[in-house]
Amino acid sequence: MAVYFKGMDEEETANLTLSIINSGSKVDLSMIKGLKIDKHSSGGVGDKISLIVIPLLAYVGVPVAKMSGRGLGHTGGTIDKLESIPGFRTDLTIDEFITNVNKYKMAIIGQTPNLTPADKKIYALRDVTGTVDSIPLIASSIMSKKIAAGADCIVLDVKVGSGAFMKSLPEARKLAKTMVNIGKILGVKTIAVITNMDQPLGYEVGNANEVREAIEVLKGFGTEDEKTVALTIASYMADLANAFPNFISAYNGLSDIISSGKAVKKLKELIEIQGGDPSIVDNPDKLPQAKYHIEIKSTTEGFVNTINAEEIGIAAMLLGAGRKTKEDVIDHAAGITIVKKIGDKVNFGDTLCVLHTNKTDTEEAETIAKKAFYISALKPKLIKYVYDVIK
Ligand code: URA
Repeated sequence: MAVYFKGMDEEETANLTLSIINSGSKVDLSMIKGLKIDKHSSGGVGDKISLIVIPLLAYVGVPVAKMSGRGLGHTGGTIDKLESIPGFRTDLTIDEFITNVNKYKMAIIGQTPNLTPADKKIYALRDVTGTVDSIPLIASSIMSKKIAAGADCIVLDVKVGSGAFMKSLPEARKLAKTMVNIGKILGVKTIAVITNMDQPLGYEVGNANEVREAIEVLKGFGTEDEKTVALTIASYMADLANAFPNFISAYNGLSDIISSGKAVKKLKELIEIQGGDPSIVDNPDKLPQAKYHIEIKSTTEGFVNTINAEEIGIAAMLLGAGRKTKEDVIDHAAGITIVKKIGDKVNFGDTLCVLHTNKTDTEEAETIAKKAFYISALKPKLIKYVYDVIK
């Protein structure tokens, strides 16, 4: 509570992070050859960036040893998304994890049980005392898990906007600087990229539908926001791993690979080596499908000015795609397809988004999803997908 009101200086924040790391066991990745690069997102809606970045980097030989989390509240989690693929295992042993990174340059697992136990206790306490929203506590919580997971370098995707923890750019910059400083003090090279979360990323929000969209991006058909954020994060990771001479050449090289659709074969391989059904890449209709599809129509006309990403995330959660509490069970088939994005022209009666669900009581989700779209006669200014980079 004192930290929530008074904050902490850089050294105190780094010391807290170290104590949280030392409360459990660190993952030893020294058996993996080369620099191990990890990424982390501070949490968003429709955030399928890891599903794109892991195969893309593995394609150019950068080892990605990724530990990911599950979704809670309005934000999704990469582990839940991958578990929508029939058979996909996220509980690899550390030996399998290390073997796969050495052999295929990629592996992804959920959090190991004894990773940063103090974070779990402190977070539960913050949750019930209304002290989650504190920059040094968020920064130490995120960085302790990343450093304990054994990476040599970390690229952070700090989201800012309606669907993010940080609602304003100054707040996001402060969180990004705090995390980069923790990395500096604790000797783990860290770069933070501040990216837009003022609307869901891409068109799909959920689990199976996000996997389907990530496949499309890797085949060369992604939306501009997804491609730009994925390429920026992947290029910093590739640059840190010295896979390209510099960031610009990494961006250009990876951009060519995305457009060519070549990296999708690495996603297929990732699915195969983790026990999943790789044929979903050629036949995404084999992924779980919801029974009901409800179109949300516009009752006005103009241009989409904003889409409240948090509300879309909450609506998706109510449809079954997310968890209100940690114990809730996810329906991988549920989710939302955004049809109109910011800047799109809308006529009366046009579909704004489509809700996918197996539930029949969808009234609340429908109301929230409809309210999330703000349409006005004025065409909005072009939005930036990447705001800043803190090194
Ligand atoms: N994500 C975390 O891992 N910890 C926080 O405190 C907030 C977001």
